[in-house]
Amino acid sequence: MGSEYVRFGLSWNWEGLDETELQRRHGELRTWVNWFVARYHLVGRVPRCWDRHPGLVDELKALWYYHEEVTNPLVPVVDGDQVHDPSEPEDPEVLARAYHDWHEARWRWMTGPLADAAGYRECLARQEHVDDGHASDARAFAEASAAGVEEPMDTAQVLS
Ligand SMILES: [Zn+2]
Repeated sequence: MGSEYVRFGLSWNWEGLDETELQRRHGELRTWVNWFVARYHLVGRVPRCWDRHPGLVDELKALWYYHEEVTNPLVPVVDGDQVHDPSEPEDPEVLARAYHDWHEARWRWMTGPLADAAGYRECLARQEHVDDGHASDARAFAEASAAGVEEPMDTAQVLS
């Protein structure tokens, strides 16, 4: 029996999705973020341009999938008998504790990364998207990093 492994892209990994699917998921996330912002009084704390900040999209996406998991989990449909019982969704096993954990995660995110506003403090202040230059800094970092790889490594320096 062979045992082969492949990388399986989970729902929250949007890398490599086709444009239609990407648009669909972005639309669903946007709907949820609108609800989330209204529900937890986050107007003025989540920038309107949140979808232009990939790191922020990742964080909101994580909260969204987590929220789905504890409110509308994906469950298998159990086949009923064809005459009397229609097919029904199987009872999910989500504990109240998991729902509470989601609120804890939300609170940690709101008091940590959201309060920190890394990369969008200016966007919040001006209420419009402001390019903070981080993307070009990151490109410069990658280029410098690649240049470092091509240079022979000085073993004595590394070990000191
Ligand atoms: Zn922005």
